[in-house]
Amino acid sequence: MNEALPIIDTAKFSEHLRVRGIRTEQQQILITNFKGSQQEQDLSAPTNCAGYGRIHHFRRPQPHPWPSNPLPIDPAARALGLPQLDEIQAQVFQNAICSWRCWYCFVDFDLLSANPAHAQFMSADDLLDLYVAERTRPVVIDLSGGQPDLVPEWSLWMSDAIARRGLTTSVYLWTDDNLSNDYLWRFLKSEEIERLRRSANYGRVGCFKGFDEKSFSFNTKAAPALFYEQFGLMNRLVTAGFDVYGYATFTGTSDNEMHILMSRFVDSLQEQVHPLFPLRTIPLRIGAFTPTKGRMREEHVKAMAVQETAMYAWNAELEKRFSPEQRAANITLHRLSQ
Ligand code: SF4
Repeated sequence: MNEALPIIDTAKFSEHLRVRGIRTEQQQILITNFKGSQQEQDLSAPTNCAGYGRIHHFRRPQPHPWPSNPLPIDPAARALGLPQLDEIQAQVFQNAICSWRCWYCFVDFDLLSANPAHAQFMSADDLLDLYVAERTRPVVIDLSGGQPDLVPEWSLWMSDAIARRGLTTSVYLWTDDNLSNDYLWRFLKSEEIERLRRSANYGRVGCFKGFDEKSFSFNTKAAPALFYEQFGLMNRLVTAGFDVYGYATFTGTSDNEMHILMSRFVDSLQEQVHPLFPLRTIPLRIGAFTPTKGRMREEHVKAMAVQETAMYAWNAELEKRFSPEQRAANITLHRLSQ
């Protein structure tokens, strides 16, 4: 149960998981197999790629008052020269480690702890072999988790493998990040980071978890102070020139003074990441999934209601700070670099 977990020592746990989640010499990553998992019960289509993949339908609409979600639909459409879409399919692979334990995570915690019963070491080419053998091949490949940035080599190796196969112009690579570590900068050489940044048709998203330190810690089981580090980590990606976007989850224990807290949150996005970054950030509505049912208690049910109040506060902040034209523009047009 999530509430029974102690506060996670993120630095120590991340080091521990990284060792178990990568074989650098063989260029292999520990990849989740969904067969028999609780997560598998929530999938709308059977798993593919021998159980190591799933197809996800990214859909633009979210229920009112939540904003429509253009990620990764619009970045992928722009990169691949596709028309305006309201839905796009992605081939998803998950690495089998994550440093946090969000109560609302739609992944079984067993699929986040390097459990060999549910995962196998695979190279980027192993995954692409499975992908090209499928009859249905989405044009988006999403490296998810887990926390892909515990093993940032994965994104680089996948990007390189896509290029070697001549798929660079026909596939869009999208990677998820929970903004919990700086491993991209610690474990990749500067020329490798630059190669990844410059790779065609590559975008990434980082997820802010909570609107303040208290909601962040309630959601993730990480220390409250790490709430503030998310902004610095995102700023580093923006400054380096990555095509990066944000998600935000707004569950929390209380909606007291929500307008003040949300105003501070949006201030942090603007002052610590980029003045336009709120326009590249999409709040995601948390729902219930099979793996979350056993974790949810009264406080989590309340947290679902808190996110609705938070959403109104977010909308009010964006209306104050940006014009209707800016808010209606395609998300890819909010450029963060020259
Ligand atoms: S950071 Fe993401 S993968 Fe990890 S527990 Fe939270 S929601 Fe799940």
